[in-house]
Amino acid sequence: MNEMSVFEHSEFDGHEHVAFYQDKKSGLKAIIAVHNSNLGNALGGCRMWPYASDEEALRDVLRLSKGMTYKAAMAGLKQGGGKAVIIGNPRTEKTPEKMFAMGKFIDSLSGIYISAEDSGLTVDDLKLMGRQTAHVAGIHAKYHINSEPADGNPAPSTAYGVYVGLKTTVEHAMNSELKGVKVAIQGLGHVGIRLAKHLYKQGAKLYVSDIHPENIEKAVSEFSATAVSPEDIYDLDVDVFAPCAMGAILDAKNIAKLKVKVIAGAANNQLAKEEFGQLLADKGILYAPDYVLNAGGIIDIYHQSISSSDKGLRDHIEKISNTLLEIYHRAQSQGVATNIIANQIAEERFG
Ligand code: NAD
Repeated sequence: MNEMSVFEHSEFDGHEHVAFYQDKKSGLKAIIAVHNSNLGNALGGCRMWPYASDEEALRDVLRLSKGMTYKAAMAGLKQGGGKAVIIGNPRTEKTPEKMFAMGKFIDSLSGIYISAEDSGLTVDDLKLMGRQTAHVAGIHAKYHINSEPADGNPAPSTAYGVYVGLKTTVEHAMNSELKGVKVAIQGLGHVGIRLAKHLYKQGAKLYVSDIHPENIEKAVSEFSATAVSPEDIYDLDVDVFAPCAMGAILDAKNIAKLKVKVIAGAANNQLAKEEFGQLLADKGILYAPDYVLNAGGIIDIYHQSISSSDKGLRDHIEKISNTLLEIYHRAQSQGVATNIIANQIAEERFG
């Protein structure tokens, strides 16, 4: 049997609160971690995943909750960072009873952790949790971005934030507007396809890849995009690479292939290692730190929980541009990679 230490865990970063929960009746096993609440109660998604071990679940919740502290601080939210994980396969092991039990677990923390949706869970699952606790966010969406239906899915806000941030990054790196700029988008899911639409409207030339042909076909027919195979997306002679599929794609091998001037996309944890940020800077590539650029979703969830407006939500998302410019100016003056500067600014804000 593995001995599992929390305080000595390699991902432990002075987390304020780590709670383990088991509900024998429903079979729920879950962990909630609050990393830092200096700026406010901790907001973060609840993920359900078939973790191979408790240790793997602990590692994930420690790492992800820390990431949320940085993301919330950079998004200008009065919230701290937290995360919850449910151990189990969301396709085969999810039951309403487990969701009710998870709601009770969240409620037992009296609001220091506020749950949103993450991989493996839907807005309906959150609604079941919401029968046991008031501390769930994003289930009563009131405000819209670009007149998309407010159904609790934050992807329209995430895509809008990525679009405004990408535009700012192109202006900064290339002194150019988006018209005629060549952008390669990896992944045309909820966020990628909406990003493609924004960019197309501004006259950008799109190159797209996905593993599902129907997503490609939509972008080709509606946004005059050029289809590219998933393997070829890194080799293109284009200006911008927008990763909108999975994390850790910026590894040494792929970075060596890239010919772009800008990397700006929605995917979480794009850098396979933090030090690869410097590798990108050395190649003259301006990297928009992922958690700053893709914060539109968490900004959306936050606004749904306060008294706001469509305009209030939109204005807040557009502030992503100011934050990126602050990062780029500091990175330039200090000769330090943008991902490192983003972390420094976040630490100044929540520390
Ligand atoms: P999604 O699952 O809807 O879309 C991902 C797309 O990538 C799918 O169409 C999938 O087929 C495609 N894909 C998978 N592997 C690929 C490959 N090797 N090459 C090309 N395409 C591939 O997810 P999403 O909601 O659009 O989110 C995209 C990324 O942005 C994820 O990394 C997610 O964590 C991150 N993100 C999303 C949000 C949000 O609001 N949805 C917020 C913050 C961050």
